[in-house]
Amino acid sequence: MQTLIIRFRVLTLFTVLATFLVSCSTTKPSHPTLQATLWVQNAAEFDALNQQAYNTAQIYLQDAIDDKNWTASVEQDGQDVTALPTAIILDIDETILDNSPFQARMIERQTGFDPVEWNKWAQEGQADALAGAVTLTQKAAELGVTVFYVTNRDAVTKEATRKNMAALGFPLAENVDVILLNGERENWTSSKVERRKFIAADYRIIMLFGDDLNDFLPAKDMTQEKRDALVAQNAANWGKKWFILPNPIYGSWDQALTNFDRNLTDKEKEQILKNRLKTKQ
Ligand SMILES: [Mg+2]
Repeated sequence: MQTLIIRFRVLTLFTVLATFLVSCSTTKPSHPTLQATLWVQNAAEFDALNQQAYNTAQIYLQDAIDDKNWTASVEQDGQDVTALPTAIILDIDETILDNSPFQARMIERQTGFDPVEWNKWAQEGQADALAGAVTLTQKAAELGVTVFYVTNRDAVTKEATRKNMAALGFPLAENVDVILLNGERENWTSSKVERRKFIAADYRIIMLFGDDLNDFLPAKDMTQEKRDALVAQNAANWGKKWFILPNPIYGSWDQALTNFDRNLTDKEKEQILKNRLKTKQ
C-alpha cells in the first residue's frame, strides 16, 4: 500500500513538472501591441472607421470652401483669412498610410520602437493607403484645395515617402512643397504648431486630419486630464473641421498613460497601467 502511494505521488509530481515544462516551451511572451496590431490588420471595423472619417469630410468640403471665414486651425484664430486660398492638412502615418507591417515586424522580433528600423521601413516605401484617404484628398485637389501633409517622419525619408504616396494616388502639388517633415527647417520640431503656422500664413486651413491630438492642437506632453479637456472644449470641431483616425497601437495617448515618464522600468510601467484600469468597484 505504502509503495503504491509513493508511486502515485511520484507520478503526480512528474505530471505537474511535465505540464510546466510544456507550457514554458510553447508560451512566448506576448508583445504589448499584439492585439492592437491584429485589430488594425484584420478588423473590418478598422477600415470602416477610416472610411467613415473620410466620407464625413467629403460632406463638409464644399461648405468649408464656400464659407470664407471657415478655418480649422487654432493658429488662425483672429486672423483675417477671407482672401486666402484654401488648404487641408493631413498627418501621414496612421492617418493616410498604414504602417502596421512595421509594427508586425517588431512583434515578431520582440523589440520596441527603433528609429533606425523605422527609417528603413519608410525608405522601403511600401505602406498601403488607409481606406478613404486617397478619394478624399483627390476630391479636395479637384476642388482647388491645396493638400498639405505634415508628418513627423524624418526629413531623410522625404523622397521615399513622396514616391510611396504618389504610387498610391495621393495628390502632390507640383508648384508647392506640400510634404513638411520633422526637422526639415530649424524650428520644425515634432510639435506641428510651427508648420501649421507656416501654412496658415498663405492658406485658409479648412480641415485637419490626424490620429493624434497633436495633429490638431498644441498638446505635446499634456496630462491625460488636459487632453480630455481639450477634446471636450473642441467638441464642435470633431467630424466637421477635425477628423480623427483610429490608432490603438501608439501615440501620445499611450505616453500620457505614464505621464510622459520615459525612465520607467517595464515593471513600474505595468503597475501604473494596471492602476489606470477603471473597475467601478
Ligand atoms: Mg500619425
